[in-house]
Amino acid sequence: MIYLDAAATTPIRREVLEAMWPYLTGDFGNPSSHHTLGEAAAGALAAARKTTAAFLGCRAGDVTFTSGGTEADNLAIKGIALARQAADPMLDRVVISAIEHPAVEESARYLERFHGFSVDVVDVDAAGVVTPAALQGVLRPETALVSIMYANNEVGTVQPVRELAALARHHGIPFHTDAVQAAGSLPLNVKDLGVDALSLSGHKLGAPKGCGVLFVRGRLGIEPLIHGGGQERGRRSGTENIAGAVGVATALRLADAGDAAERAAGLAALRDGFIAAVQAAVPDAVLSGHPVHRLPGLASFCFPGTSGESLLLELERDGVVCSSGSACAAGSDAPSPVLLAMGISPEVAQTAVRFSFDSTVTPEELSTAARAVGAAVGRVRGLGDRLPN
Ligand code: PLP
Repeated sequence: MIYLDAAATTPIRREVLEAMWPYLTGDFGNPSSHHTLGEAAAGALAAARKTTAAFLGCRAGDVTFTSGGTEADNLAIKGIALARQAADPMLDRVVISAIEHPAVEESARYLERFHGFSVDVVDVDAAGVVTPAALQGVLRPETALVSIMYANNEVGTVQPVRELAALARHHGIPFHTDAVQAAGSLPLNVKDLGVDALSLSGHKLGAPKGCGVLFVRGRLGIEPLIHGGGQERGRRSGTENIAGAVGVATALRLADAGDAAERAAGLAALRDGFIAAVQAAVPDAVLSGHPVHRLPGLASFCFPGTSGESLLLELERDGVVCSSGSACAAGSDAPSPVLLAMGISPEVAQTAVRFSFDSTVTPEELSTAARAVGAAVGRVRGLGDRLPN
């Protein structure tokens, strides 16, 4: 099988599992317990926090371990917006982009439904980019928070996060970014980026599903969503997932090891070769997303005259596993809101296929996959009128 769905999830890296193993077995203590086992767990948690903070370039106290990217996004958006509104009731608007992951969009909609907020959605251009001018157009004195993703999970477009965060800061508005897809291939130093909050997920970079991180700059207030024993400095109660925290921290350390920029450049070169091979096999394939500012391990195309779902079936028959959009939208027949927001018609959006990979992919796998794409498109087009709508 050629696995080209790394944006959906990745397998656990051996080093990560080995680092986690003691905390799943012998060192199983609860970090709140005052005995040796508890202290060992507390020590592991503190070390994981320190490693994560070193990766992000922040203070250890600014790191909260969560159950994944979705929880980190929920906590950031609801937690920051509600805390700001509690301090100043005038603050009743949040800004998100038109291409956010549902974890961000639905958190904002929750604030709208239950807390009287308005959600201002900033449009993207045809390449999926939020320009600083577009963001400027939706900022208001009542804006409590801006949340714009670092890199899009469906088309791979990378946002000008530094500029967008600087603009928000200029207006005194906290800026959150969902960096779930960026982690592992793009720089994530929160000082350089100038962001106030940032979400990560373990399973996109070789840690298990169900563990993630939220960075929130120290001075920023945040209302917890989960109440209880006050763990994670009161931001997220519940007995900590020590093995998960160790896993995500180890995966971040490995992502940072050696020359990360060189690895990303190598991956981008493989991606560009794959894009060229797909376009040679299917001359009318349309690459979606920004031509340059894009994730090094992601290429998404529309194949006019086909159906994305049928292509997935054909490709899997040939041993190539990929996705028709985001994993979260899988199983839904509705065209991707991300592609629609970029101005792609619903008919063409139905023909999208996303290929995503990390540096474990080989050039041979990518050329085999590109040939399989050519063959699959030919077969699906041959089905003609029998295609699902
Ligand atoms: N944000 C983005 C951009 C994602 O791609 C995903 C997962 O697909 C998430 C958030 C959710 O992360 P998790 O699966 O850890 O809840």
